[in-house]
Amino acid sequence: MSADAGLTAAADDDVVELCRDLIRIDSSNPTSNERAAAEAVAGWLSDAGLTPEIYESDPGRASTIARWPGEDPSRPALLIHGHLDVVPADAADWQVPPFSGEIRDDCLWGRGAVDMKDMDAMTLAVVRDWSRQGRRPPRDVVLAFVADEEAGGLHGAHHLVDRHPELFEGCTEAISEVGGFSITVGGRRLYAIETAEKGIAWLTLVARGRAGHGSMLNDDNAVTALAETVARVGNHRFPIELTPAVEQFLAAICEALEIPFDPDDVEGVLAKLGPIAKMVGATVRHTANPTMLTAGYKHNVIPQTATAYLDCRFLPGGEERFYASLRELVGPDVAIEVVHGDIAYETTFDGDLVDAMTAALLAEDPDGRAVPYCLSGGTDAKSFSLLGMRCFGFSPLRLPADLDFTGMFHGVDERVPLDALRFGTRVLSRFLALS
Ligand SMILES: [Zn+2]
Repeated sequence: MSADAGLTAAADDDVVELCRDLIRIDSSNPTSNERAAAEAVAGWLSDAGLTPEIYESDPGRASTIARWPGEDPSRPALLIHGHLDVVPADAADWQVPPFSGEIRDDCLWGRGAVDMKDMDAMTLAVVRDWSRQGRRPPRDVVLAFVADEEAGGLHGAHHLVDRHPELFEGCTEAISEVGGFSITVGGRRLYAIETAEKGIAWLTLVARGRAGHGSMLNDDNAVTALAETVARVGNHRFPIELTPAVEQFLAAICEALEIPFDPDDVEGVLAKLGPIAKMVGATVRHTANPTMLTAGYKHNVIPQTATAYLDCRFLPGGEERFYASLRELVGPDVAIEVVHGDIAYETTFDGDLVDAMTAALLAEDPDGRAVPYCLSGGTDAKSFSLLGMRCFGFSPLRLPADLDFTGMFHGVDERVPLDALRFGTRVLSRFLALS
């Protein structure tokens, strides 16, 4: 390992072992809990000379927090957060048992390998290596390994932000998941740093009609009304609106492809993107996807109500416009009810922290280029942004051009190349030194 990254050779193996050990702790949400993972992390941080504390919202729903004192405690602090939970995995679908942490084909396999025990392990590997060397970060760093991100963070980030905001005192910036990974376009590696997230609107559509016998005439059938509305919503394409992160991302893609960027032909650019288009394509407009339906209880009874479930994601700055157009699309006869919502978020791609991320990436991959992008989903960054922090997705990984990385998230055969873990650890170490 390069000495310039400020790490000893031990970090190379350490990051792989830490990630493997974390994968072997089944922290599936909701079937398991995070306690064992939180305790393991606390143990590793204690070994590094830190004084971690474990916080629980409910029994077992544990998060580990530690403050790593910096050289200059008068400067604002940096938050590095990662979640400990993973989505469940059905072993029958996998080539390897999902909680075995097996190494095969130079990759570490298992649930959480990219989402996001990789980043947890890279962070821990840097902390441990630096403390072995007696190094401290330039400023205070708060390390937060939290529960429940995969179910919206009520038992993790939301809980900590609401009940223990003092833990994050002085933090003005944060880094975490779903950014800093490479995408190869036109033979160039672009490192996508997340600067924005779409908002979440999980809604129901409820149609009410007249109940009655299935053999008779009924011109007020809730199932028919709902079906028409769901089809309309599901087939609707909201207009394209380019937010700053998306526009900069698409422009960088075009530059890498050596084609002019035409904001009026976004679909044309998306068509050249490969597997990542299904994510990027969702960030150029609001989306509303029907996901579940319920109605009726007997074959010959027309029910009084019928309900559809929508997973909607609105653009940063577009929440009101989204709801207004959805209401118009749905019409007056079907009710829209909000089951769960969370904010959209966007920060700018500039400033010292962005410069530090860019410099750290380029030092390890001089042919790479850092670009901002908007995540179609949501992360704990939404919660921490409420404390006034600028939040970035920066979990650096240099990936093979042919790996469908976005397909790994919550997918089967989730795995991370060992080289990518080591690369990310070096980049994080460089980044920390510059931060
Ligand atoms: Zn995640």
